[in-house]
Amino acid sequence: MLGDWTAAIPILTYHSIDSSKSVISTDVQQFSRQMEYLAETKTRVLSLIEAVSLLKQRSSIPSNAAVLTFDDGFRNFYTCAFPILRKLQFPATVFLVTGYAGKDNHWPGQSPGIPRLELLDWQEAREASLAGIDFGAHSVTHPNFAHLSHEDLTREIVDPQQIICGRIGVTPKIFAYPYGMYTPVAEEIVGRTYEAACTVEMGFAVPDSHPHRLPRIDMYYFSQNNLFQWFGRSAFRRYVGMRGLLRKLRDQ
Ligand SMILES: [Zn+2]
Repeated sequence: MLGDWTAAIPILTYHSIDSSKSVISTDVQQFSRQMEYLAETKTRVLSLIEAVSLLKQRSSIPSNAAVLTFDDGFRNFYTCAFPILRKLQFPATVFLVTGYAGKDNHWPGQSPGIPRLELLDWQEAREASLAGIDFGAHSVTHPNFAHLSHEDLTREIVDPQQIICGRIGVTPKIFAYPYGMYTPVAEEIVGRTYEAACTVEMGFAVPDSHPHRLPRIDMYYFSQNNLFQWFGRSAFRRYVGMRGLLRKLRDQ
């Protein structure tokens, strides 16, 4: 059963916009082509909070919608992605690791093979926020939630909301689980703090998706080839479905 695809919203996940070809990297030219493609095909690029609200209402979901998210808050969002998004007037949500703003992504537990990359500082985040970019929370130190005490989970989930509000002046409404890892306790704390939360489970967000466990589409699977030209077509949906299934099997 494929479900009602007219009410399915692809929430795209980008990390870093750079040319290293790492698993978290999308080349800037490729990113630019993907955004131009969305513009040419008149895709309705919604803000994440707008998409969450439409999914909750279960109505008025455009059949050609997409949402753009960027995990970790890399400085290259500000230097590479932000100018392209501003030109095309596309909204986007950036998930910040508040304890590392203005530093780099070498938090404890970072996977080997991930390039060391600078992160946005608060001034850049404020500037992007004033230009319409939304900021969400992605913890304080990017830990694996499976290994944390209740107290540590509370700090990693609740504190970023106050920190981002204090630094940018806008309260973040959405959380993204570091590494996509969540536990029942983490989900419960996230549930009473944020309106919605994103995982790294591969799939389309639909009205039946739990708002605090929203699936997304990792653009890693579209970074090394021209598969993005399938976007919005049934082949794209089949490819995402297959990737999601393979990922589930791998994680079992
Ligand atoms: Zn992350």
